[in-house]
Amino acid sequence: MINRVVFIAVLILTFQFVYAQEKTLIKQIDKELGKAISSKVILYKHLHENPELSFREKETSKLISTKLKSFGFEIIDNIGGYGFAGVLKNGEGPVIMYRTDLDALPILEKTDVSYASCKTDTLNGLETAVMHACGHDMHMTVFVGVAELMSKMKNNWKGTLVMLGQPAEELGGSALLLENDLFLKIPVPSLALAYHVSPELEAGKIGYIPGPAWAKVNTVEITVHGHGGHGAYPHQSIDPIVLSARIILALQTIVSREISPLNPAVVTVGAIHGGKKHNVIPDDVHMMLTLRSYSDEVAAKMISSIERICNGIAASAGLEKKEFPNVVEIYNSLPPGINNPELTEKIAQVLKKEFGETAILKQEPSMGAEDFYAYGSTSEKIPLCMLRLGSVSKETIEEHDKSGTPLPGLHSSYYAPIPEKTINTGVKAMIITLIQLMNEIPLHTSTQQGHE
Ligand SMILES: [Zn+2]
Ligand SMILES: [Zn+2]
Repeated sequence: MINRVVFIAVLILTFQFVYAQEKTLIKQIDKELGKAISSKVILYKHLHENPELSFREKETSKLISTKLKSFGFEIIDNIGGYGFAGVLKNGEGPVIMYRTDLDALPILEKTDVSYASCKTDTLNGLETAVMHACGHDMHMTVFVGVAELMSKMKNNWKGTLVMLGQPAEELGGSALLLENDLFLKIPVPSLALAYHVSPELEAGKIGYIPGPAWAKVNTVEITVHGHGGHGAYPHQSIDPIVLSARIILALQTIVSREISPLNPAVVTVGAIHGGKKHNVIPDDVHMMLTLRSYSDEVAAKMISSIERICNGIAASAGLEKKEFPNVVEIYNSLPPGINNPELTEKIAQVLKKEFGETAILKQEPSMGAEDFYAYGSTSEKIPLCMLRLGSVSKETIEEHDKSGTPLPGLHSSYYAPIPEKTINTGVKAMIITLIQLMNEIPLHTSTQQGHE
């Protein structure tokens, strides 16, 4: 009986000790974040005003890597173009990679924020506006905040932090880093983390999806051949525009009639280009497609169905086999995005303790895609977790709920995350996560010295 009383007393004292230590750590994070936040908001606005397109992130890469260097990170640059890694070694412990993307999109910004982008660039010979419409500027800002705090709070963790700046996410840039021997250039991580902003989730909240979260992407292009001629004498030609129209409608039956309704799949024709003049039937039409799925089998089925439909329609129009459409899968296909379930659940539990059950929300998978997951598909089999970072104000969500209009999504000209709260939550949650994972043991038994 006495033993039991002693045991319970020790348990209570340990719990109080743990609780006090955790509070001390959180207080320290809040204090450092309070000092750092205004410069991060300025950094966010600068990045937002100065977006650079995929594979052209020269200034962005220089700015972010220079900041990491100033916090004591060793910089390894020129990994697959403007890719870089900042490495902070801090004694024995796990190696954890945390990645940000760097690139913006060819989109004209239509938000009314004072720091809206006015930048333009040239793409395929045409001038285009450039905007951080996918929130990668927010990812970078949070990334810099995390680097600063992890450097300042080195007494609280042991291990190696590898912070990866990855160019060209929108074009599958992670493949280029891996082709350039990323894991020979940096310490091989035992796990990797990343954020993507959410355009639907309130700032201050974080979404998590254990298991499959983002879809597999196959990017396909079709060139439909015909026999060009005068628009007034269509019977003397084989019109590739009419063929393309028939093909596009027939493609709609792949998902509705050939794939099991229990398997998610998308076939979207995103671009069609053919012809130059009202009265000329062109020789060719070019189409650009994105396919989404969650398995290799479904993806392979969609591609073979596209080929079969294209060939069948071409044959029915009287084209010879050698004139059948060219169906080509191009470079930026991506694996499905699967968060390691145990790692993701563990992070969610850690964050719930600090932010509360209502702020850390389990979400549904989507048919969107992310090239972050390429880092988990190598022979190293690195467990991954990408969290969704809430970025919209409560008032904006309520306004859209009331009017029934959808919130501006990612890649929208109107997407405008609210800076301070989003940055604050992003940095704090990532610091708590990293310190927890670095110590691999509960926060309370960490080697923290206490800066209070
Ligand atoms: Zn995007
Ligand atoms: Zn993105």
